[in-house]
Amino acid sequence: MPRKRSQKSKLQDQADALWAEIIRCIWPRCAVCNEAPPVVRNIQAHHLIGRARRATRYKIENGIGLCPSHHVFSSTLSAHGAPLAFSDWLRATHPGIDQWVREHHRDIVTPITEGWYREQIERLEQFKEGL
Ligand SMILES: [Zn+2]
Repeated sequence: MPRKRSQKSKLQDQADALWAEIIRCIWPRCAVCNEAPPVVRNIQAHHLIGRARRATRYKIENGIGLCPSHHVFSSTLSAHGAPLAFSDWLRATHPGIDQWVREHHRDIVTPITEGWYREQIERLEQFKEGL
């Protein structure tokens, strides 16, 4: 029998989905090529500071919308496939966002509790209502 998923991981899934929904709402087109579905398959919410860092995982400023090519697949310019080129692109085209990333890429938060996830979800819900 599969192990029952913890409440914390359910809250994490909920917060992840909410964050991604908001990012795709703010960025309905790929930030690199400016295409939107159906020209590209979908728009994916990318974490500028990797999502392993919980402190910035649910920050609105940490998200950008990208098509699959510019998110993962392009070997010349994509967040995961060509990260150095992507960093250069971000600095050149979105200096304010690049500055935010530089200021927050070492942020840490501890401890990560169920309560912390609930706070993130509440903040994201409030932000979504204001969109
Ligand atoms: Zn694109």
